[in-house]
Amino acid sequence: MRLSRYFLPTLKETPSDAQIVSHRYMLRAGMVRQASAGIYSWLPLGLRVLRRIEQIVREEQDATGAREILMPTIQPADLWRESGRYDDYGKEMLRITDRHDRDMLYGPTNEELITDIVRREIKSYRDLPQNLYHIQWKFRDEVRPRFGVMRGREFLMKDNYSFDLNYEGARHSYNKMFVSYLRTFARMGLKAIPMRAETGPIGGDLSHEFIILADTGESAVYCHKDLLGFDITDQDIDFDADLQPIVDHWTSLYAAADEMHDPDSCPVAKEDLLEARGIEVGHIFYFGTKYSDAMNAKVTGPDGNEVAVEMGSYGIGVSRLVGGIIEASHDDRGIIWPDAVAPFHVGLINLRVSDDACNAACEDMYAKLMAAGIEVLYDERDASAGAKFADMDLIGLPWQVIVGPKGIGAGTVEVKRRATGETENLSPEQAIAKLAG
Ligand code: ATP
Ligand code: MG
Repeated sequence: MRLSRYFLPTLKETPSDAQIVSHRYMLRAGMVRQASAGIYSWLPLGLRVLRRIEQIVREEQDATGAREILMPTIQPADLWRESGRYDDYGKEMLRITDRHDRDMLYGPTNEELITDIVRREIKSYRDLPQNLYHIQWKFRDEVRPRFGVMRGREFLMKDNYSFDLNYEGARHSYNKMFVSYLRTFARMGLKAIPMRAETGPIGGDLSHEFIILADTGESAVYCHKDLLGFDITDQDIDFDADLQPIVDHWTSLYAAADEMHDPDSCPVAKEDLLEARGIEVGHIFYFGTKYSDAMNAKVTGPDGNEVAVEMGSYGIGVSRLVGGIIEASHDDRGIIWPDAVAPFHVGLINLRVSDDACNAACEDMYAKLMAAGIEVLYDERDASAGAKFADMDLIGLPWQVIVGPKGIGAGTVEVKRRATGETENLSPEQAIAKLAG
């Protein structure tokens, strides 16, 4: 992508209304613009990151055997009257009336809608288990939308719903999501800590929040320091096998500390206890037959009797993750994208666009990098070196290739790793080989 033809409205000044670093950098890097309190437009650079995160979430869901669907944002109120949540949900729910005076709502979550789909289509235990997910915008009229996309009113969530014949099946579905979430966040370069949680308005009796560590997080976190030392992506997971040992292993590292994150009731030895702040990026629930009882979602069991299906629901804050990753990975010059979610892999900086040799070298590298399947943002604007460096550091691409007249005279370009600031002078061929490797 040529920067002069892109839409990247970066800001030099720090926007005064942004209280936390991710919000400031998302505005300054031209990733989002606010439409209304807690409601954002995603500009090209921000949308690329959002899509990357969404794709990792999708791949990890698919790997568990969950199937993707797409439910609408607008739902009929009657389904929520059946479950009893239409009145319970309160002011966070955006209520809408259509032209025929029918009550509708902008979905804050989808338990009712999915239960309605499943009760119509699934009649026998033979059609279970089922696990269906979608990645769709939600609306919650939060009292205090703040921190940019981290606590928005409109936000993108992956939510899925499991349906099983009995508790054992439901527990296995829950464990699959537990393990899958550890992998999903690890792939994004994040260390997510599963903490036992209250079930809240969704109801039920088993729930974990997944929290990533960041100083600006809204939740206090206490856990064993060893929890940060594991890498689940190293393991090959068979999602059909018994996952309880993996879940037990992880929970053993914080089980004692997790009782609603209270350090005083925590038997983990003080010297092993990590106290930090965190951001909730995912939340999983087992809630049994709460919705299937209320909405009459039953199947015929092996014995011929009808039973209500056992359910769970599982959410990931896809748009919140964009801010969360920045909170976890930045410095005072800007964002540092983990490779897996970066909007482009390489930023190519042409320091002198009036110089034929610089242009020729840049054009050649640009074409060759793209031919090697590497995504490049090429800064060929007629702007000062200082402005180009500042913008490139701000938008945080993992690699920078800096091409200037001096280097080209000596047959080299400078390759810089954004995260460490380390630089290397290489020939253009060596640089391409390094970046493609
Ligand atoms: P919170 O406690 O942060 O208000 P929640 O417990 O109400 O979140 P869930 O219903 O568990 O949220 O939703 C699943 C996920 O959706 C959360 O883990 C979070 O990552 C994301 N999420 C929830 N509310 C918001 C919001 N207002 N803005 C952005 N993401 C959100
Ligand atoms: Mg939650």
